[in-house]
Amino acid sequence: MSIARARRLHPAAGALIALCLSSPAQSQELDPQIAKLVAAVSEERLGAILRKLESFETRSTLSSTTSTTRGIGAAREWIRAEMQSYSPKLQVSFDSYQVLKQGRINRDVELRNVMAVLPGKTPRRIYISGHYDTVAFEGGQGNTNAGGTPGARNPSADPGAPLDNKAPGVNDDGSGTALAIELSRVFSQSGIEFDATLVFMAHVGEEQGLVGAWLHAKRAIDQKIPIQAVLNNDIVGNDTGGSGIKDGATIRLYSEGPEDSPSRSLARFVQRWGALYVPSHKVRPMSRPDRFGRGGDHSAYNQLGFAAVGFRESRENFTRQHDVRDTFEGVSLPYLAQNARVNAAAAATLASAPPPPSVVNDRGQPTITRAPLGVRREPHLEAFAGRRRLPHLLARGLGARLAA
Ligand SMILES: [Zn+2]
Repeated sequence: MSIARARRLHPAAGALIALCLSSPAQSQELDPQIAKLVAAVSEERLGAILRKLESFETRSTLSSTTSTTRGIGAAREWIRAEMQSYSPKLQVSFDSYQVLKQGRINRDVELRNVMAVLPGKTPRRIYISGHYDTVAFEGGQGNTNAGGTPGARNPSADPGAPLDNKAPGVNDDGSGTALAIELSRVFSQSGIEFDATLVFMAHVGEEQGLVGAWLHAKRAIDQKIPIQAVLNNDIVGNDTGGSGIKDGATIRLYSEGPEDSPSRSLARFVQRWGALYVPSHKVRPMSRPDRFGRGGDHSAYNQLGFAAVGFRESRENFTRQHDVRDTFEGVSLPYLAQNARVNAAAAATLASAPPPPSVVNDRGQPTITRAPLGVRREPHLEAFAGRRRLPHLLARGLGARLAA
């Protein structure tokens, strides 16, 4: 029955049917500036970034820092310069740490996250991130999953950089890195003045145990930097699974529970606003912190009490992860671009919204809190209390083993 015919029968019935036919994606709910920002994501630019990242042959955290064309040193310098070229509004820097030999870090090393900050009207921060370091094992992740020997690496050509075997890492995690780099361009050139400060982050040391992300989160706590949300992207560029099943229309989004946790709420927020601005792409929230037996940088932020979620492609191909076969040919640019648009829609909406309310009682104590009744805490640090479990490597004392 048409709405007009229903109205003729009964005005109220027409209104009811109109209500039922209304899609949640009412165009009047959309901010035209954000819609324009989302539409500015470029497949072509994502492709060019991935080609460049692949050209460094390896971006292992422990590879060469002296070559200008190969290894982690050349890669991080290029990422820094690339983001800086987009806009004078972007404050691009290395976020550096001296780390001693330990665990999977087989020599003392300086770790450098690459960070681009787009200042907003307030200092509260929203992150879009990936990790630019790579790893390659003999046989790759597929071999490990099939019960093969994990961690056997190809021989190194450079005794000063013992993990410099070829590790192109175009999908893991060139894809998340390219997404963050491209969105630093799109946001900084959008002309929108956001309420929140946006941070576009390329983490390092992920393959050694989420080290770069954890160190940054720890520094944020020490410096009382208010991180409100982290959208981490790791392996988000391939739409065809190892089984051959193709799914270029969905993306999985992992978050730690329980159902009312800040991270799970953030995942629902991303799902809602992704669906409104990018209706052709579906966000599938997963009721787990990450895939079974696997981890990512969003968990390092979770470990220190921040709301953080992890995007993962719809179908994975394990023969192309942690492997020399993780090349440009294994990535779908249209799919990666859709995932970038979902990130853009959610982050732009969140950054345009007012900050979460701080509701206090007549004694100045927060009343919206997960702290036990009667316990008073700094509102922006309350989530950290009792949540200092560290990732497996870091639990063995990394915090105490930073070089001076
Ligand atoms: Zn990864």
